[in-house]
Amino acid sequence: MAILYERVALIGLGLIAGSMALAMREHGLAGEVTGYARTEATRATARRIGLVDRVCESAADAVRDADLVVLCVPPGAMAQVAREIGPALKQGATVTDVGSVKRAVQDAVAPHLPEGVHFVPGHPLAGTEHSGPEAGFATLFVNRWTILTPDVDVSREAVEQLIALWQGMGAHVDEMDAEHHDLVLAVTSHAPHLIAYTMVGVADDLSRVTDSEVVKYSASGFRDFTRIAASDPTMWRDVFLTNKDATLEILGRFTEELFALQRAIRQGDGELLFDYFTRTRAIRRGIIEAGQDTAAPDFGRVGKKT
Ligand code: NAP
Repeated sequence: MAILYERVALIGLGLIAGSMALAMREHGLAGEVTGYARTEATRATARRIGLVDRVCESAADAVRDADLVVLCVPPGAMAQVAREIGPALKQGATVTDVGSVKRAVQDAVAPHLPEGVHFVPGHPLAGTEHSGPEAGFATLFVNRWTILTPDVDVSREAVEQLIALWQGMGAHVDEMDAEHHDLVLAVTSHAPHLIAYTMVGVADDLSRVTDSEVVKYSASGFRDFTRIAASDPTMWRDVFLTNKDATLEILGRFTEELFALQRAIRQGDGELLFDYFTRTRAIRRGIIEAGQDTAAPDFGRVGKKT
């Protein structure tokens, strides 16, 4: 594939940045990729495994002369990183991010970017519960959606070039405004993560009594809660702090539905339960038909690094 950006800078060198670095290399999408992470330990690991072409000692050094800068740090660190790189950005460069929350991240980053730099926020809907520079893999984005949330006045050329990059890494790309993204993700990702965290917390309390049984019999459903609940604590703390309103709205609705199902169980209302589960089963089938998961019994982990 043709080179889309001569120089790309990745700020943060974890799962998402690492996967982007490997995918860009595999598909020949970037001339040179530089990188920076906060700690010397992460920078040393990135150097040792040759994750990017050049690991820099500061974020400003990494972005100098970059045509594309990708902010791959937790949502709560975006403002600080934008402040550090702002003065070093090249005129005409594109800045994007991969943060799981869009409105708060956009508001945190935009004020630090100089005139003449194109800001095209983004979010790849792909991930695992693993973190760090060694967690990345080149196929992470294949057949997954990436959502871009640029303001209407952003250069179309810059947006189209970034779309081509994500497509080059195997992703499908959609555009929407930041608020809508945050509501959609509250339903599809943020609230489900909170529910998984809660369920695993409940089982942990129970496990004081039946420790080995929780582990032994976890295959039917609970295993997938534990996988989700193993997700990075820093990132998920930031997600809930920065997507507060949408998440609270969805959790409110969730609680109402949970109470309705609780009442149905207490009252022995099998018809209500059956109708409800029939409706939710159709949603699951829709996800499989859309190619966003597999019907295989290992819940979509076939052929993927776990
Ligand atoms: P990760 O594996 O934990 O990596 C985060 C990286 O950010 C680390 O290299 C860390 O460096 C660096 N970092 C943290 N604070 C920093 C700072 N102040 N300055 C410079 N570097 C800093 O995280 P990830 O899973 O790749 O997530 C990165 C972003 O992608 C987040 O915004 C997240 O919302 C988004 N995202 C994640 C997923 C997912 O499933 N994981 C999916 C889609 C989007 P050190 O190691 O040196 O601390």
